[in-house]
Amino acid sequence: MSLRLMLTTASALTLLATATLAATPPSSNITISAERISMDVKTLSSDAYEGRGINTRAEAKVIDYLSKSFAEAGFKPGGPNGQWTQEVKLRQFTVSDASLSVTVNGKSTPLVQGVDVVTSTRGALGNVSLKDTPLVFAGYGVTATERGWDDFKGVDVKGKIIVVLINDPDFYAPEAKTFGGKAMTYYGRWTYKYEEAARHGAAGVLIVHDDAAASYGWTTVKNSWSGPQFDIVRPDPAKQFTALEGWLSADAAKKLFAESGLDLDQLKVAARSKDFKPVPLTATLSGDYKVAASEVVTHNVIARLEGSKYPNETIVYGAHWDHLGIGAPDANGDKIFNGAVDNGTGTASLLELARAFGHRKAPERSIVMIAFTAEESGLLGSEYYASNPVYPLETTVAGINMDALDVYGASKNIVVVGNGQSSLEDDLAGFAKAQNRVLTPDEKAEAGYFFRSDHFPFVKRGVPMLYAKGGKDLVKGGHDAGVAAEAEYRTKRYHQADDEWSADWDLSGLVQDVTLYYQIGAKLANSRVWPQWRATSEFKGTRDTSNDKRK
Ligand SMILES: [Zn+2]
Repeated sequence: MSLRLMLTTASALTLLATATLAATPPSSNITISAERISMDVKTLSSDAYEGRGINTRAEAKVIDYLSKSFAEAGFKPGGPNGQWTQEVKLRQFTVSDASLSVTVNGKSTPLVQGVDVVTSTRGALGNVSLKDTPLVFAGYGVTATERGWDDFKGVDVKGKIIVVLINDPDFYAPEAKTFGGKAMTYYGRWTYKYEEAARHGAAGVLIVHDDAAASYGWTTVKNSWSGPQFDIVRPDPAKQFTALEGWLSADAAKKLFAESGLDLDQLKVAARSKDFKPVPLTATLSGDYKVAASEVVTHNVIARLEGSKYPNETIVYGAHWDHLGIGAPDANGDKIFNGAVDNGTGTASLLELARAFGHRKAPERSIVMIAFTAEESGLLGSEYYASNPVYPLETTVAGINMDALDVYGASKNIVVVGNGQSSLEDDLAGFAKAQNRVLTPDEKAEAGYFFRSDHFPFVKRGVPMLYAKGGKDLVKGGHDAGVAAEAEYRTKRYHQADDEWSADWDLSGLVQDVTLYYQIGAKLANSRVWPQWRATSEFKGTRDTSNDKRK
């Protein structure tokens, strides 16, 4: 969607929202303090907190600090049974001794781990053995009813391994606009492919790697899936995921298809059409691997301010408290990954928002603050909460997620990650305008960042969520200064020991952003408005199934 179109829609809807909100009290004057946020970041990212690793002694310190701060702000424990915390049980799956091979016409060829294939799973608790398992090419592996798209066409893939392409059918044909054009829809994410394979009862799924369509190289695939994989503890993981979740390298896939008498390049083009039908390979897959599963306990920290009139309707603010903990020492011998920006800034802002809402006339709807655990292990604290919501998701009005906020000064623009999804960006546009700022669309929408932080487990279940932050067009130094600051952070600090608090930070942009988050939440909390998904959103259908709960 173009920026102009987005803003035109925004102003139309802002009028509508203003009319609905006219009778409600205006949000009183609040102050978002850069000093308080800075002090909280400084504490939470100090060496004493040891990089906030999950299930370490630092976790208890974090819980203590956050719950005391929430209490001081006037919030009550918001977890189950009147606790500040929600226990999150994680399961760690480690695959070892994997040996897989493909057989065509009686001839067997091994698939070399890390070179041809990467094998992982979150769907098996013991050893896995596959024998002459049929392989079926299922295109992009997508079932999108709202777009009239079904790659399976009723073909039964139960007990078979589906081979699918990464991203969605529009990636190489954005002009078709059957999906989101160049912007990746959720159907393009590997997580979706894995989930959809399990929904079809497949024995496994192999994603064909492609540097461009994945937005990262084979090394990233190899590094990400060679080690242990985490999931929340589920009673029967095999219901949620398949026993084989893997990737095929581009070369291995090409060869495999050729041996089955198929042209992968041609099939890739065919898969961009609605008429595509699954194509069985003559090759089958056999092999064994061991899966060791162990459990880890960690915690979400939850605080709540009860609504005065509609306490069962909830506005959620979220930020992950965890970071990478202690790792290998860097060149300076520093091994504490402090995680000051990622995500000391978001966690400190959560506390500051609690102070803004607390100790004053309570809003009509409830405000729930969640400091999520295990974001760095795959959005698992938020996944756990969304699977086991303390407050019903049907009557969760909306949410705002904060992850790695801006420390480089005020910006003229605010970027909506995953723009075009819901009416929340209209609210944002209205308040941003008062700050003389404009919304700009997701800068790398084809990389699917909208699916990569803690708002997403809520989104997947239909809750409208906003993930937006200060853009690169800085008030001091313009776009070039913003690009340089971003690059400096990416290369020198992101997920490194040098992500540390600094007295030199300019938090004026962060304060502006947090003010916007407050204004949107306060407006919703004192209204009867239920934010809406856009008609083209892949999450609208899920929300619609519970419409009768929001009357
Ligand atoms: Zn983060």
